[in-house]
Amino acid sequence: MTTPDRALVIAGAGIGGLALAAGLRKQGLPVTVFERRNNLAEVGAGISLWPNALAALDQLGLGAEVRSLGGQVASGGLRRPNGTWIQRVDRDAYETALGEPLVVIHRADLLDVLRAAVEPSSLRLGIGVEGFEVGANGIEVRLSDGSTEIAQGLIGADGVHSGVARQLWPQVHLRFAGYTAWRGIAQNGSPSRCSSHQALSGPSLLSDPAPRPVECWTSQALAVHPLFGRRHGHHPAIRAGVDHE
Ligand SMILES: Cc1cc2nc3c(=O)[nH]c(=O)nc-3n(C[C@H](O)[C@H](O)[C@H](O)COP(=O)(O)OP(=O)(O)OC[C@H]3O[C@@H](n4cnc5c(N)ncnc54)[C@H](O)[C@@H]3O)c2cc1C
Repeated sequence: MTTPDRALVIAGAGIGGLALAAGLRKQGLPVTVFERRNNLAEVGAGISLWPNALAALDQLGLGAEVRSLGGQVASGGLRRPNGTWIQRVDRDAYETALGEPLVVIHRADLLDVLRAAVEPSSLRLGIGVEGFEVGANGIEVRLSDGSTEIAQGLIGADGVHSGVARQLWPQVHLRFAGYTAWRGIAQNGSPSRCSSHQALSGPSLLSDPAPRPVECWTSQALAVHPLFGRRHGHHPAIRAGVDHE
């Protein structure tokens, strides 16, 4: 038997965990989010929000703020290693088909908006979820500080390496699909090279796994080439520092 006034516990304060916590709070449901990191400051680079994500944020009452902090994607796409296009972003086509263009925003800004929509006392940083048992009074959630929380329910929003999912489905394993993604943030600058990144704020860094950040795209496009070239062949657009068709 679960006790109705017990909180729902969410493992992980990423985009998913915080968005869910904001939604549960809006519904007046008690919720506690445990996040194993001590702070939410380190969150990678930018994220493109498709109209379905924006619609979800609208439901949370956060869509307008997120749109105002981000920028609309004007152009962009995916290229093959030889520089030819796999897919290009057509802003007008997206708007016609989906109702509005994609919004690109720094992940830190998105997390700030989500975090502000969560009751501060329900966010417990620096405490990880270690495991759980289904008990007579609810879900017994084992925490990294040695304590146990009895919850009405447990939601695993603890990312791609989710321990909650691993406990539920130990037979399921991650499989590396062979893709590597490089992410960077460009300062406002040359529209020809950075149009889909123009709206992003923050430092102009491209992170090397070393880690060895280099300035990129707007001022020192050529500095990127040795990094990419070593690992992924020579991308002509980066090598030339111009927007190749
Ligand atoms: C390179 C790249 C680019 C992407 N670009 C886009 C994009 O443009 N648009 C888009 O929609 N999606 C994009 N995605 C996908 C998107 O980033 C993810 O779907 C999203 O971040 C998942 O959010 P999440 O909250 O489920 O997990 P996460 O963001 O991974 O958050 C999980 C949280 O759980 C915490 N945690 C982990 N274990 C525990 C534990 N045991 N106890 C407590 N806390 C724990 C972690 O510290 C973390 O804070 C991209 C992904 C990658 C890798």
